[in-house]
Amino acid sequence: MQKNQTAQIAVLAGDYIGPEIMAAGLEVLKAVSEDGKFNYQIHEEPFGGAAIDQAGDPLPAQTLATCQQSDAILLAAIGGPKWDNAEKRPEAGLLQIRKELNLFANIRPTAISEAMRQYSPIKNENPVDFVIVRELTSGIYFGTPREKTADYALDTMRYRKEEIQRITKLAFEMATKRRNHVTLVDKANVLATSKFWREIVGEIAQDYPQVNYDTSYVDAAAMKIISSPDQFDVILTENLFGDILSDESAEITGSLGTIPSMSQGSNGPALYEPIHGSAPDIAGKGIADPISMVKSVAMMLANSFDRQDLATEITNAINEVISQQVVTPDLGGHATTKEVTAAIISSIKESR
Ligand code: ATP
Ligand code: MG
Repeated sequence: MQKNQTAQIAVLAGDYIGPEIMAAGLEVLKAVSEDGKFNYQIHEEPFGGAAIDQAGDPLPAQTLATCQQSDAILLAAIGGPKWDNAEKRPEAGLLQIRKELNLFANIRPTAISEAMRQYSPIKNENPVDFVIVRELTSGIYFGTPREKTADYALDTMRYRKEEIQRITKLAFEMATKRRNHVTLVDKANVLATSKFWREIVGEIAQDYPQVNYDTSYVDAAAMKIISSPDQFDVILTENLFGDILSDESAEITGSLGTIPSMSQGSNGPALYEPIHGSAPDIAGKGIADPISMVKSVAMMLANSFDRQDLATEITNAINEVISQQVVTPDLGGHATTKEVTAAIISSIKESR
């Protein structure tokens, strides 16, 4: 997208706490964009359970079309007990949108800032700041044949060369904008697919001489995420390992309610969303932590619109608000969603 053009942003608020935290994210986006700093237009569409209720479909054609025509997509959270026995599942909409937009890479940052350190179970004092780049559309979750009989069951882990190449390039490109370090996580001592990953990733690594490239078995990586997470910058891994390691990584930051994510394809819009679900247990109480959504907005500004400056302003404001203990109950505080959001906005305005 050209600078100075109006950014087109699809907004999918979703279910339960979804609309509560989306409102917070959009307020912060508005505040940081003021005075012509960033021009954008939002396009709100129903998605997930809300869309099933309205249109009988978790991803209505109109919602998909809006997403396809946008420069980026903001999603809050979908699903919940209301649709447990529904004929269509809200989550089916998410799988479909990933497929339609070919979102093959899922990127999850894990950072423990000074402000968040008190909430982290990690005792290591060094700064922790890494991202997991997880392959999202292939591997054992999608491989066929798949069978289950009374006597045995079978899943298939399959990767094609192009699937590995495209995500590897993305991971190395990302590393060049960070600390120039990629760790491939696999199980190459046992799995054929992992040996294949090593061959292909090793080849692409040669195109990036400035990037320090190493490998780690997934069992060792799982330990290191706890014992020495500061040694990682970009972790590149396949679908199943990435699923497990990204939840482990979320845990070391101290709260699910503070972590954003991004899903990206080769071209077309990327999708930004909190890593957590729709939190039905706290919906409507006004106490959902908005930080995961606000950080998703920051990630969108940095990655889809090349506005690291605005993303940094938001992140600094979040850190300040956490340091001042203006936090929701998930972080042990008494503040409401609206109070945290207002505090983030005040901090942005004060530092301008
Ligand atoms: P999903 O299957 O969609 O991942 P889940 O069953 O893992 O959902 P979540 O919705 O992610 O559940 O919530 C897990 C727990 O974390 C719940 O107790 C929820 O209230 C809490 N939680 C999740 N997000 C937030 C948030 N933004 N603020 C406060 N608490 C949250
Ligand atoms: Mg979950």
